[in-house]
Amino acid sequence: MAQVCQTTMRSSPPQAAAPPALVFEARGLKKEYDDGRVQALRGVSFRIMQGEFVAIIGPSGCGKTTLLQMLGALDVPSQGILHYRGSSIADLPDPSGYRAREIGIIFQAFHLLPTFTAMENVQMPMFETDRSEAMRAERAVELLKSVGLEHRLGHFPAKLSGGERQRVAIARSLANGPSVLLADEPTGNLDSENTKNILELIIRLRREQNMTLVLVTHDLNIARMASRTIEMRDGLIVADQSTTPATA
Ligand code: ADP
Ligand code: MG
Repeated sequence: MAQVCQTTMRSSPPQAAAPPALVFEARGLKKEYDDGRVQALRGVSFRIMQGEFVAIIGPSGCGKTTLLQMLGALDVPSQGILHYRGSSIADLPDPSGYRAREIGIIFQAFHLLPTFTAMENVQMPMFETDRSEAMRAERAVELLKSVGLEHRLGHFPAKLSGGERQRVAIARSLANGPSVLLADEPTGNLDSENTKNILELIIRLRREQNMTLVLVTHDLNIARMASRTIEMRDGLIVADQSTTPATA
């Protein structure tokens, strides 16, 4: 019996799982505003791997939004290194293409375009791709269904509740199948019932699509759902810990 086992093991050695890919790497990242009078980031370093769910916590003004904006190529660092899959984000030849294709971004204030319907808002990032009009519309319906808004396709943002607006924004963030989701206090403008539903939605979508999720929050209950928590204070990382998520 022992021999059979040994033979079996020898003929098919267990395959080591490939390590997860490196998605973001920051080294000595700094960001100044107003000619150096404001130092929003004072030298932060970290690595984020494919599939991680990282919560970024810390008091108001500590640099959380600034950091997320650098990750999303919405702003450029003053100093230091910030790479996405080995390439410098600041030197990307096409930052808007990067934002549209690689990254989904969800903001606290939703940032929907008020004169466009839910369907049209969701399609916005798709104009960066060569999808046909019919394909764009079909995909928008599919995405709005996935966030539970199939009955709101033609609604304008003003006719939607806060929770519904954030669902549209989430659907928009997924328009081009990003591998990374950046969320900046996505439930900051919502009541507790909507907060719970929106978080469950983001976490479910992340799991289903195996996305890397970087979520800024000052709510420790939300941070507990993450697999890792980065704590910031005054432009610096003061703690970076793996955590056992409250929900798998
Ligand atoms: P958080 O998201 O943690 O509340 P922020 O990243 O928004 O913090 O801000 C960090 C610091 O940088 C704060 O002192 C803020 O006032 C300042 N700051 C952020 N954006 C700008 C800007 N565009 N111009 C000047 N100062 C800014
Ligand atoms: Mg902020």
